[in-house]
Amino acid sequence: MAKAILYDATKCTGCRGCQVACKNWNGLEAVETYNWGSYENPKDLSTQTWLKMRFIEKGGTETDNMRWLFARQSCMHCTDAACVKVCPTGALHIRTDGFVALDKDKCTNCGYCVEFCPFSIPRLDASLISGIGDKATKCTACTTAGLNRIDNGYQPACVNTCPTGALTFGDRETLLSAAQDKVAALKSNSHPNAYLYGENEVGGTHVLYILDDTPKAYGLIEDPKVPAAATAWQDIIKPLGYGIVGVVGLGLILNIMVARARIISREEK
Ligand code: SF4
Ligand code: SF4
Repeated sequence: MAKAILYDATKCTGCRGCQVACKNWNGLEAVETYNWGSYENPKDLSTQTWLKMRFIEKGGTETDNMRWLFARQSCMHCTDAACVKVCPTGALHIRTDGFVALDKDKCTNCGYCVEFCPFSIPRLDASLISGIGDKATKCTACTTAGLNRIDNGYQPACVNTCPTGALTFGDRETLLSAAQDKVAALKSNSHPNAYLYGENEVGGTHVLYILDDTPKAYGLIEDPKVPAAATAWQDIIKPLGYGIVGVVGLGLILNIMVARARIISREEK
C-alpha cells in the first residue's frame, strides 16, 4: 500500500528536531554553519544534510507583525520521479510503497539525478569529479540498507522525533484525506490561499505539505515539471541503449558459436 509523510506547516515550530534526527539516524556529519543573513542553517542541502528546514521571515516592520513560515526541504518522493527515469543503473528506484530508494552500491556518480530533479534535491560530492568521494545522496525515507526503519515497522526518524505532531507517517490515502479536510478548514478560516502541496504535483508525491499560504510564499516550486528530456531518456534512449547492448551481446554469442563450429569442423578434417 502507498505510504507517505505528511508535513503540516501550521504545526511546525522550526525546532529542527527532524533535521537533527535525520543526521543522527543516517550517520551524517555535522557541517560548518555561519550567519548568512538567515536563521536557517546550514545554507543548503549537501551530501551530509538530506533534510533541512527553511525559515522564511514575513513582515516584521513597524506596521506588519513578524511571522515565520517554516518549510521542509528534502526529497518529495515523486510518483513521476525524474531521478528514477534518468538513473542508468537502477540505483534510484521506486518501492512498492511509493518511496524513492537509493542503492549506493549501484550508483556510478554520473550525476544525472542531480541535473534532472525538478526540486534540486540529490547532491554529489564535488570531489567526485576526480572520481573520489561520496555517491549520489538524498533522503531515502529511512529505507537505506542497514538503516531501514520502514521495513522493520518503524516510522521515519524525522517523523518519530517531531515534538509538535507536524510530521505524520501512514497510508497515503488516509493522510491525503486528512490533509484535504485541514486545508478546507484553513481556507474557510481566514487562509484563502491554503494549499495541499504534493497532492497532484509530478504525479502526486509521497511527501505532502499542508500550507496556510501559497507554495510560493513558502519558497516551494510552483507547478514543478518533470523535464521532457527525462521522459525521453526513459522512453527512448534507455531502451535503445538496452537494444544496443542486446545486439552487441547477441553478436558476441554468434561470434563464439561460429568460431566454435569452425574449430570443430577443422578438428574433424
Ligand atoms: S524530489 Fe527529486 S530526488 Fe526526490 S523523488 Fe522527486 S525527482 Fe527524485
Ligand atoms: S521536528 Fe517537527 S516542529 Fe521541529 S522543525 Fe521538524 S517538522 Fe517542525
